[in-house]
Amino acid sequence: MRFAPSPTGPLHIGGVRTALYNYLFARQHGGVMILRIEDTDSTRFVPGAEDYINEALHWLGIGIDEGVIEGGNYGPYKQSERRDIYRKYVKQLLDDGKAYIAFDTPEELDAKRQEVANFQYDASTRLQMRNSLSMPADEVQRLIDAGEKHVVRFKIEPNCDVVVNDLIRGVVTINSSILDDKVLYKSADDLPTYHLANIVDDHLMEVSHVIRGEEWLPSAPLHVLLYEAFGWADTMPQFVHLPLLLKPDGKGKLSKRDGDRLGFPVFPLEWHDPKSGDISSGYRERGYLPQAVVNFLALLGWNPGDDREIFSMDDLIKEFSFEHCSKKGAKFDYEKGKWFNHEYLMNMGDAELALVFKPVLAQNVDVSQFSDDYIAKAVGLVKSRVNFVGELWDQARFFFVRPETYAEKDIRKRWKEETPDILRALIEVLHSIDNFTSQHTEEVVLGWIKEHDYHLGNVMNAFRLTVVGECKGPHMFDISELLGKDETIARIHAGIERIKPLDNA
Ligand code: GLU
Repeated sequence: MRFAPSPTGPLHIGGVRTALYNYLFARQHGGVMILRIEDTDSTRFVPGAEDYINEALHWLGIGIDEGVIEGGNYGPYKQSERRDIYRKYVKQLLDDGKAYIAFDTPEELDAKRQEVANFQYDASTRLQMRNSLSMPADEVQRLIDAGEKHVVRFKIEPNCDVVVNDLIRGVVTINSSILDDKVLYKSADDLPTYHLANIVDDHLMEVSHVIRGEEWLPSAPLHVLLYEAFGWADTMPQFVHLPLLLKPDGKGKLSKRDGDRLGFPVFPLEWHDPKSGDISSGYRERGYLPQAVVNFLALLGWNPGDDREIFSMDDLIKEFSFEHCSKKGAKFDYEKGKWFNHEYLMNMGDAELALVFKPVLAQNVDVSQFSDDYIAKAVGLVKSRVNFVGELWDQARFFFVRPETYAEKDIRKRWKEETPDILRALIEVLHSIDNFTSQHTEEVVLGWIKEHDYHLGNVMNAFRLTVVGECKGPHMFDISELLGKDETIARIHAGIERIKPLDNA
């Protein structure tokens, strides 16, 4: 298997899915996963794009066996370093009469397009053009020797059925007459075009399955013809064209602009455009866990055949199959992405989550004051309330700093004339408790409230207001257990001193 991105910008989330499916299939079958950089179009090269691809795949745990970094026996793995190889295969096609040399300048081609409606460079027009089929051999040689710029075009036989067998699409047959004589090589930069390089490399690298986005399906008939022209039809890879990722409303292809417009990333990592300086947001920087992104993407276009949704990478490797890939485009449901992240946070051990949370915590407090165990417990109590690690601070803040202010609307609702006296009595009750565990403290305090016939909601919420600063958060006695008796009591004291009743306006 190979993933063969062109380094023309940040890897789109659809490209990540393509890489993932290649990886899953390779691992499932004990195959090899190659990362090939297709950089033959020098005009579209973007600095930083190749590093970005490597970093994104690494972050997501999509392992590469052979590639520019990993090495391997089939290199170089960057097409711009394979010129010698391509030259040889271009020559083979020329020698076999399967391709020809053409000298038409861009201006001449334009003029022809003006003159003939729907002009196509093919069997019906090629003899009217300036190429090695229409010109005498010595003239062709003279032009080449004189350094005239030229291209090599594929000589497509008209009126043949071309059959593309696709594992998702089924059999697609087209007539070769609709294809033009594609440019395979340009002397100007001594480089092949995508089509030639792609086919030669897939052949030489012994690729068995070409899994790629649906946008490449129109190129597939041409690729089939190239395999035949080279005499490689027997070892032609199996094609698999993946359905598109669609906009959330299902209307059209998901684009970078949808992400900007609807406020979600369409790139795995943040991307700083080297030319414009624009920053596009990434899943990693938004606080996504890589496993959640992988799970989310895997299910955009594939399903396990039942309603299971949570799959580790190992599960996916076991279960993935093309039979369960959809032919239809997959709607990009970003809310579902958040849900996945939430599920993965919930399933993470508290200690592990605490480790990820620590850098966020460190931006707000001196972490050395708190034990790892304390941080883990705090995180464990609030994790069900968040989708992202970054949101944990907001939810867990009161475990690390005393309330500086108290929520006005909660004061209005819960802080009565008699509240300070009741809380003073509560302090006495708490003082007397030796075993300050959540369950025991709850028993004692609720018993005391009942005994005095206090209003349960008002007393508990006033208690919470002094400790948390507002009437929200996890179970109150879990909070008091973690904060400990002294800290809990100190906060109630501070609340009594600082909170003044407000009119219930
Ligand atoms: N270089 C092509 C791309 O950027 C690869 C297409 C293919 O996988 O054949 O997507």
